[in-house]
Amino acid sequence: MTSQFNSLLQVLDYFKDEAVCTTYLAAGRWGNTPSCPHCGNVGAYVTNRGYKCKAKECHKKFTVTTGTIFENTKISLRIWFAAIYLATAHKKGISSLQLCRDLNITQKTAWFLLHRIRLMLANNAPEMLEGNVEVDETFVGGKNKNRHANKKIEGSQGRSAADKTPVLGIAQQNVVEYKVRDHKVIKGRKVVERIVLKHSQVSCEVVANTEAATLHPIMLSQVKADSKVVTDAYASYKGLNKTYEHVAIKHTEGDYRTVGDNHTNTIEGFWSLLKRGIIGIYHNVSPKHLHRYCNEFTYRYNTRVVTDTVRFEDTFERINKRLTYKKLIA
Ligand SMILES: [Zn+2]
Repeated sequence: MTSQFNSLLQVLDYFKDEAVCTTYLAAGRWGNTPSCPHCGNVGAYVTNRGYKCKAKECHKKFTVTTGTIFENTKISLRIWFAAIYLATAHKKGISSLQLCRDLNITQKTAWFLLHRIRLMLANNAPEMLEGNVEVDETFVGGKNKNRHANKKIEGSQGRSAADKTPVLGIAQQNVVEYKVRDHKVIKGRKVVERIVLKHSQVSCEVVANTEAATLHPIMLSQVKADSKVVTDAYASYKGLNKTYEHVAIKHTEGDYRTVGDNHTNTIEGFWSLLKRGIIGIYHNVSPKHLHRYCNEFTYRYNTRVVTDTVRFEDTFERINKRLTYKKLIA
């Protein structure tokens, strides 16, 4: 990337037409030699509408967007790139209403673009968290009238599902190396630079319920054994000491105490960002789409120390996914 993007105008100036966008996409995906998204073979014939795989047993046609979130899109790549920039550069996210105004597209199109971008932001290859790790769950959404009137259930630490959706969050404190790829094409070769940044990192996902049988397998799959895991005193976290050094902090009402150096402030801070974002920008989110918003907020949090340009480039590492409109509204 030769340009720095500090505004939408710069993005649109740089990606001035579809040809520039296509070249950029191709450089990011395969440098100068196209590789077949159907069979993985490197090398393809150029056709008038794209490429044809050179492998005899394949010979399938493809374009630079095949197998990506842009496949078969009727929206110009220029609009896509602008939407990706806006969706990732805004600290709190962007609503479909705002995006439709900014890019002069319909709200339906904006809504669809944002959902595909959220799908794209899901982590393709999450690394295991380790060291000092915080785990917590929260409930997101629900009707306004219920938001403040949740009855405290004895021993539930204020948890009350009712019409809310449970989300499990895991945070590693302050020591994560977040690797961002910055790719440049030098003399036709794709050169990948890795920028390593150190700061806390979170992962979160929507869960069916907050029972131990649901939460423990997720923790075991995401947190390395022998890590120190800090939670509150919720019953579902009992038994973690078989695998981890488990510290359970007893929260009394409204008082998030720390015990020694142990706390769950990182994940609590993330919950507050997620909830404020969902209420403030998106007003509310239906449970079936909540996991995509979790992707978006997690991605933005984990890349919060990189520049908008690096973040924009990094998102293109994650484009190999598809989500059709039919699937989205199902
Ligand atoms: Zn092929």
